Amino acid sequence: MATTATMPTHDLLINGEFVKPAAGEYVDVHNPATGEVIASVAAAGIHDADVAVRAAREALQGKWATMTPARRARVINKMATLIAERLDVLAELETRNSGKTISGSKAEIGQVVEDFEFYAGAVTKIMGSTIPAPPNFFNYTLKEPVGVCAQIIPWNYPLLMAAWKVAPALAAGCTVILKPASPTPLTALELGKIALEAGCPPGVVNVLTGPGAVIGAHLAGHAGVDKIAFTGETATGRTIMEIAASTIKRVTLELGGKSPNIVFDDADLEAAAAGAVHAIFYNAGQSCDARSRVLVHEPARDAFMERFVAKTNSLKVGDPMKPEQHVGAIISQRQLEKIEGYIGIGQQEGAALVCGGRRLDGAHARGNFLTPAVLDKVDNSMRVAQEEIFGPVAVVTTFKDERDAIAIANDSIYGLAASVWTRDASRAQRVAHALRSGGVGINTPISIFPGVPFGGYKQSGFGRELSLQTLDLYTETKGVVMYTGTKSINLFGG
Ligand code: NDP
Repeated sequence: MATTATMPTHDLLINGEFVKPAAGEYVDVHNPATGEVIASVAAAGIHDADVAVRAAREALQGKWATMTPARRARVINKMATLIAERLDVLAELETRNSGKTISGSKAEIGQVVEDFEFYAGAVTKIMGSTIPAPPNFFNYTLKEPVGVCAQIIPWNYPLLMAAWKVAPALAAGCTVILKPASPTPLTALELGKIALEAGCPPGVVNVLTGPGAVIGAHLAGHAGVDKIAFTGETATGRTIMEIAASTIKRVTLELGGKSPNIVFDDADLEAAAAGAVHAIFYNAGQSCDARSRVLVHEPARDAFMERFVAKTNSLKVGDPMKPEQHVGAIISQRQLEKIEGYIGIGQQEGAALVCGGRRLDGAHARGNFLTPAVLDKVDNSMRVAQEEIFGPVAVVTTFKDERDAIAIANDSIYGLAASVWTRDASRAQRVAHALRSGGVGINTPISIFPGVPFGGYKQSGFGRELSLQTLDLYTETKGVVMYTGTKSINLFGG
């Protein structure tokens, strides 16, 4: 593929400095919308990971964990300010590296700013409690940072997923080794620079680019790493959990999904169709919480489908740098082929492709573009209804009544998110409570806000991000029991 004339080269961020990888290896990073090579990035090896772990350990004590909370909060707030000041530049970089639309990148980096602000505000509220005790005892808890955290993130929301992990870790007083996904390392490296500029001491935020199967796996088993936080495929999460078991490491996993979008016949069908389109086709369907299964109440089927398909066909697909674009590029040729493979599997299983599923030609032929696809007449037992496709493909299934809707929605190994569309508030509550998923949106495709816990039930993982509860996962709770009496304690008597 073509290489741009001024292609930048990026080293590893370890202990506050950009350093070359020990083995001297670099890999190309591509623009998924053009196929162009846009950067060359260091491929860290095990030795580099070990150096980063040492740096993160040294930075923990004497630097970050012991810094006054108010000062730590100021540094995190400063990160938010610097990200906000560079929003346009970061958004452009994110779009060039990930293929997502520029409007999507801007919105997501706006959220990144809010995430850092949210956790900056929380730093000074991380506190233990005093516990009712018998006379002559004073019992209380301390909240202490978990320690060195390895954070492994995916390519679908490169900076946003980094923020979801880095911000609470820093707030809790932990130090971080951030491992971005190999296709999308560029904004994570910028985040590392911003952390330094904002006043994070060297070693507090380290950024290791390189192959996950090598350094990610090494960090998962490393005795110097206290916690591993991962977002990505369920199979990778399972591997990480197995490796982490060797050192009884703290683990949080945010994994795959096959989230249902349940449309009842009493819903505002215009709003439900618009919401369903957004909920699956945003980010070209490459979202762990994409509402990829559209479940429609039988009486509303035709009226809903007419609107849903028309709105899907009206989406603009193409050059993600254009602000009017709705759907950008798929991350890689391999992912594009995987998605196309699933469309074929769905048709073989008996589903009907009612729109989309075409590559773009002409000027866009070198990019990984696919028009948004709708597979109708899907039975929930089909592979396309059970497996995470991770692309712009909605599968549509009809249901008879509320009970049927809940049963179909819960018939999945996943349980990350869901949406319910109805004008009946009681029904909305009943269904939301019955769904085995970590989050539910009622009459909205959007259910992500700083403060609202995000995470999975079942094989969608465990642990919660984006909320105050997240801080519990980056802190250890120490119980302290103090005797305040004057007589010595000797339960043996004498
Ligand atoms: P992975 O889950 O393999 O990658 C996510 C992150 O984990 C990346 O940083 C990756 O590094 C790293 N990683 C890979 N292998 C290991 C390992 N053995 N130990 C530790 N870290 C590891 O997803 P892929 O990028 O391979 O995509 C595969 C499929 O996963 C996609 O087709 C999609 O369906 C799904 N996916 C789901 C996501 C979700 O949020 N639900 C997010 C991303 C993908 P590296 O990039 O260097 O391999």
